[in-house]
Amino acid sequence: MTIEELWQAAIGEIELSVSKANFITWIKNAKLIDKKEGHCILEVPNQFTKEWLENKCNTLILRALRNVSPEIKKVIYVVAERHPDLQIVVANRFVSEPQLGLLNNRIDENTNLNPKYSFDNFIVGSFNELAHAAALSLSDANNLGKDYNPYFVYGGVGLGKTHLIQSIGNSLVKKYNGNIKVKYVSSESFTSELVRAIQSQKMEEFKKKYRKIDVLIIDDVQFLAGKEKTQIEFFHTFNALYEANKQIVISSDRPPKAIPTLEERLCSRFEGGMTVDVSYPDLESRMAILKSKLDNFDITLPDEAINFIASKIQKNVRELEGSLNKIVAYYRTSSATPDIAKIKELIGSLIVRPPRHISPSKILDTVAEFYEVQLKDIIEGGRKKELVKPRQIAMYFLREELKESYPSIGKKLGGRDHTTVIHACNKIERTKQTDENLGMELNLIQERLYNT
Ligand code: ADP
Ligand code: MG
Repeated sequence: MTIEELWQAAIGEIELSVSKANFITWIKNAKLIDKKEGHCILEVPNQFTKEWLENKCNTLILRALRNVSPEIKKVIYVVAERHPDLQIVVANRFVSEPQLGLLNNRIDENTNLNPKYSFDNFIVGSFNELAHAAALSLSDANNLGKDYNPYFVYGGVGLGKTHLIQSIGNSLVKKYNGNIKVKYVSSESFTSELVRAIQSQKMEEFKKKYRKIDVLIIDDVQFLAGKEKTQIEFFHTFNALYEANKQIVISSDRPPKAIPTLEERLCSRFEGGMTVDVSYPDLESRMAILKSKLDNFDITLPDEAINFIASKIQKNVRELEGSLNKIVAYYRTSSATPDIAKIKELIGSLIVRPPRHISPSKILDTVAEFYEVQLKDIIEGGRKKELVKPRQIAMYFLREELKESYPSIGKKLGGRDHTTVIHACNKIERTKQTDENLGMELNLIQERLYNT
């Protein structure tokens, strides 16, 4: 496999795990330029992107690369230089230890927590008030492991769930001076660790490790859906901790009941504690978030600009951040404060269409009407060609127009798996480039969506 193919395969996986905005801003322009002795060299356009990827995406990138090529151990990020002999520069970087030391230096090895997430830099508004209040009270010594157990927070992509549950962990570590065993894991790494333990016959170790924990934080638990073995083991871990009054903190993109194929007993365990949601931030909160993020940089933006960004990016704090980072990057390279026109240009690709009152059911109805099929058949029907196409197009529009999460689209279309939705969206996106008829149909549907 060539380096190019390796990167293409990895990037395909990465794309599924980050928001479109972040993908475009940070990943798309990165290029894999070398691979040697388990080290990969990823070339990025500037220092800013390098830092961002190192700090925020290293695990993700490494995981994606290893899924394709398991012998890879490290990713080294280099800023593209206009150097006549890049190979030499790159080769030197292999041995430059300080460079390697930089990787991953922010995540605590014992807890897996990233210290940058704290209650102090978490903006609270009506959209997340309850989730935040409950998170604070569970961290109280009198409550830990009791009333809020488990603490289950759910909500859409990029709305602060990870930030919130990591803040719980960080604040507890601080409060107990490190004399408490906190562990943060994504449900994907829980799963892969479990699989590895099974394969290498180290289940006892795995069990022991998890049952020693005082506070178990597990992120994106919806990914346990469909993984029976993992669910069973998680259930046992959960019970062992729960019965020992240890605290469990969980996040998910939807409430327990809506996680397909979640074992009934696990579901009712999840529901047995405190279930809270985070929704979309209002305009004031979005502005407050932008201002607080801006404090981390050495630039100021006029209120007008902040207002503009906040009014354009409405449904995802991560994209809000992404747009700010783009602007900061621009500012740093050109040292000019961008005006509104420039900002518009910079974040154009992230801007959601002005809300024109379209709803998921409007999309479904319009697509069904357009292809003259029954909505019921689109949702529940089988794999007949006349149904598959409209179904895929409905998925595509739910994603494109409403930025819905893949799992929630799957749910709307008869409880289909998120991977089916991803496949559908990619397929339509790809086909429309070459198939003129499809392109035209999509335009017509879009017109109907917005004009009737
Ligand atoms: P989720 O886990 O829900 O997908 P994250 O917690 O990863 O979302 O949040 C995405 C980004 O937005 C993170 O960088 C996070 O710090 C930031 N963020 C989200 N909500 C808030 C908030 N209320 N205050 C400050 N930053 C936030
Ligand atoms: Mg998250």
